Amino acid sequence: MSNGVLIIGAGPVGSITGLALAQAGIPVTVLEALAETPTAHRAATTHASTLDVLDTIGLSDEIVRQSIVARYFQYRYRRTNEIFAEFDFDRLAGETNHPYAVQLEQHKTVAIALEAAKAFPHFKLHRLHNAVELTQDGNGVRLVTETPDGAKHDWKGAYLVACDGGRSFARKVCGIDFPGFTYEERFMIVATLFDFEAADRFKYRNYIADSERWSSVFKIPGPDGKGMWRTLLPIMAGESDEECTTDKWIHERFAEILPYAKDTPIVHKNLYNVHQRVASSFSHGRVFLAGDSAHINNPLGGMGMNSGIQDGVNLARKIIQVTRGEADVSVFDRYDRQRRPLAQKYVQAQSIQNKETLQAKDPEAANKRFDELRKTAEDPVRHKAFLMNSSLVAMWRESEAIT
Ligand SMILES: Cc1cc2nc3c(=O)[nH]c(=O)nc-3n(C[C@H](O)[C@H](O)[C@H](O)COP(=O)(O)OP(=O)(O)OC[C@H]3O[C@@H](n4cnc5c(N)ncnc54)[C@H](O)[C@@H]3O)c2cc1C
Repeated sequence: MSNGVLIIGAGPVGSITGLALAQAGIPVTVLEALAETPTAHRAATTHASTLDVLDTIGLSDEIVRQSIVARYFQYRYRRTNEIFAEFDFDRLAGETNHPYAVQLEQHKTVAIALEAAKAFPHFKLHRLHNAVELTQDGNGVRLVTETPDGAKHDWKGAYLVACDGGRSFARKVCGIDFPGFTYEERFMIVATLFDFEAADRFKYRNYIADSERWSSVFKIPGPDGKGMWRTLLPIMAGESDEECTTDKWIHERFAEILPYAKDTPIVHKNLYNVHQRVASSFSHGRVFLAGDSAHINNPLGGMGMNSGIQDGVNLARKIIQVTRGEADVSVFDRYDRQRRPLAQKYVQAQSIQNKETLQAKDPEAANKRFDELRKTAEDPVRHKAFLMNSSLVAMWRESEAIT
């Protein structure tokens, strides 16, 4: 039996978990189905808590260097264009090494982690290996992957970390439920080069509230690092993919929500289904779930990748302790205790709340929520408490305190 760790998936969670293990001298084999990391627009925001965690494995400096630093985020009404609440991460000074969020496309975070992992010859990444069989016994795990030529390959490890995303093959093989729900609406991500900051007081992270046509607008570095803006548009049940993916439909939505950008060329677009689900267990024997294989949520608030990276680093520390004989295997139960309930308490609760705030249908309920946010932003104590939650600093601390 190998004392190494197998990881399925070289997304942000698999790459970073693998790096953390390799830095401790543990042999790591990452099996990834795809030839390259996809560049489709997914995570862009990395929060203070995650940067603090990434400090411990030496990744934050390069991530911050390549990112756009986003000190503020704001909420506005679509109908009046009034900015009703603005939050300033600088209020977290003293609570984190990084009192800001950073904006960086997740494929660049993956590239930074994989580049750092090259320093460790015992970190091996095998692409075009699709995991197809998984078994385990008291001594270890056995994984079979299939390559495009149809050949099967056998891998053995002491443990397996399933970082294989929301449709996780490993979660299904282990028979772990994934309860929750899928929204009727889908989300369309549209990228443009239109400069929203110059056009109308936008910060680098912005939410636009409206009962029908709510939205969010974020700045990311873009392929050349010179800046690109990403807009999220909800696609209502009944609106077809064919219709919504046309530039005409997108320009009509821009005319309603962001009129100054109504004719701007569309650089990229992508349609997503959106779910809220947490696995019923984060482990099964020697197999552990981390990241989207363990929990998925809507992207409002930017928490999926962040909490996933935090799962991965937390779990890597436990595998290191057990491998070195510094802890017994009961620490693995702590992984589930530390991460699963808090995925519900923070990530699920806040992402659902964020969506409900933006799209509140009943005008009275909407006004109440907006008023609440305005008061939160105006009150220094509540402002800071709100940021502690939305940056997941509170979640990380609470999770680490669970014995
Ligand atoms: C539009 C959008 C915006 C988002 N914005 C944010 C944000 O700002 N901040 C944030 O924190 N999160 C955000 N997220 C969520 C974030 O993208 C995910 O949480 C993150 O990608 C999870 O990383 P992961 O490594 O767990 O899974 P993934 O990124 O899904 O990676 C899984 C990997 O496993 C591989 N794989 C799957 N099955 C197999 C198999 N059988 N064999 C081998 N390999 C396999 C896949 O090819 C893939 O490379 C956003 C998501 C979307 C859709």
